[in-house]
Amino acid sequence: MPSDSVLRLVWIYPDLLSTYGDQGNVLVLEQRAQRRGIAVETLHVRSADAVPESGDIYLIGGGEDRPQILASERLRRDGGLHRAVARGASLLAVCAGYQIMGTTFGGEEGQPVEGIGLIDISSGRGAGRAVGELAGEADTVLGIPTLTGFENHMGVTRLGPGVRPLARTTVGTGNGDGTEGCHIGKVVGTYLHGPALARNPGLADLLLTWAVGAQLPPLDDTWFERLRRERLSAVLPR
Ligand code: GLN
Repeated sequence: MPSDSVLRLVWIYPDLLSTYGDQGNVLVLEQRAQRRGIAVETLHVRSADAVPESGDIYLIGGGEDRPQILASERLRRDGGLHRAVARGASLLAVCAGYQIMGTTFGGEEGQPVEGIGLIDISSGRGAGRAVGELAGEADTVLGIPTLTGFENHMGVTRLGPGVRPLARTTVGTGNGDGTEGCHIGKVVGTYLHGPALARNPGLADLLLTWAVGAQLPPLDDTWFERLRRERLSAVLPR
């Protein structure tokens, strides 16, 4: 992103995948950029519309099984997100949106459904629904503190070689194998709702840093920290 220009956020398919308050991730990015004097433009792309290639950070949320299948078909056919990520855009994909990014995921009867194949992960159905708080220690290469959020999904996810877990799970299910989410390049996938970026401003700033291409000045995060402390103290042993 050139220094004099606007940060472009793209919120993908609010009409299909916006059931868990994940749109809050967009608000957090907008706010944290604007508080640092960065101008922001946000585009909400409905599923009937083309995904533009010129965005800086793309976001997609969680949702129910059928809208998830529809979203996968449309995104795959559209191809805009693939082209954007290939040009170096960042992406935060949550839960259903995370599963879609892989090669396959479990449909409403557990049947394998084709994902968009943006990254080498695959998902299927777990033994039961994972519902509740989720916490984990972030991959140290990311340099961000303990991740917190809540999860509500049936899916379990396996990462291919070269795709790193976002975190080692300490509370909850995440991917289902002791890890949670993934990251590769500037793509982050996660099962965290909360919304994820309201619970984890460090993750928000990581996405902003990738997009802006420079370190950002710290912000007063008193209220974010209160929320984090409250949620983490409810689930982690002291
Ligand atoms: N339908 C998917 C699952 O149950 C995703 C759910 C979600 O986005 N919360 O695994």
